[in-house]
Amino acid sequence: MLNIVLFGPPGAGKGTQAEKLIDKYQLVHLSTGDILRAELKAESELGKEAKKFMEKGELVPDSVVIGMIEVKIDANKEAKGFIFDGFPRTTAQAEALDAMLSAKGTPISRMLALFVDDDELIKRLLLRGKESGRADDQDQSIIENRIKVYNKDTAPVIDFYEGQNKHVSIDGVGSIDEIFERLCEAIDAVK
Ligand code: AMP
Repeated sequence: MLNIVLFGPPGAGKGTQAEKLIDKYQLVHLSTGDILRAELKAESELGKEAKKFMEKGELVPDSVVIGMIEVKIDANKEAKGFIFDGFPRTTAQAEALDAMLSAKGTPISRMLALFVDDDELIKRLLLRGKESGRADDQDQSIIENRIKVYNKDTAPVIDFYEGQNKHVSIDGVGSIDEIFERLCEAIDAVK
């Protein structure tokens, strides 16, 4: 199995690249942001709870997202592998994911971290907000909080995978195809 963590700050291009990678490698795409937005839209209890955090650009509690991912992994028993997008976002989430995957005997193969500077991230997110109508992409102060939360709570996840020799840093600036090629090279090196 090929299990990839696609990592990076909001606006780094994880969703766009994940779509291309699942096509090429026949993997299942698990994006906690997408799952949470679907819950919000469905006005489920989980969605209502998550909304309070998402609209401020804060992280949804670990127990909620870990439980969500566990359900999705269990629901895809035939998968050739997974691309985790926007998860794990804390060291506690990374530890929980390791425990879940080791119970199944299919560990994370690589953690690919996209790097993009803050000014470029803010520019990309504001543009996405205009085009998609996504609420948390339309307000500069929410965007800045998401980047702050990334630097404080999420960036340490790099050290977690670095400690396992699984972290690869990828330049996230360039054309979509150029960045895709960089990601594929890093994946093909482990296959
Ligand atoms: P994203 O689409 O990945 O940028 O996620 C949008 C929002 O959903 C984030 O700002 C968080 O509020 C929430 N979220 C998504 N994934 C996670 C996660 N792994 N842990 C905590 N909160 C998350």
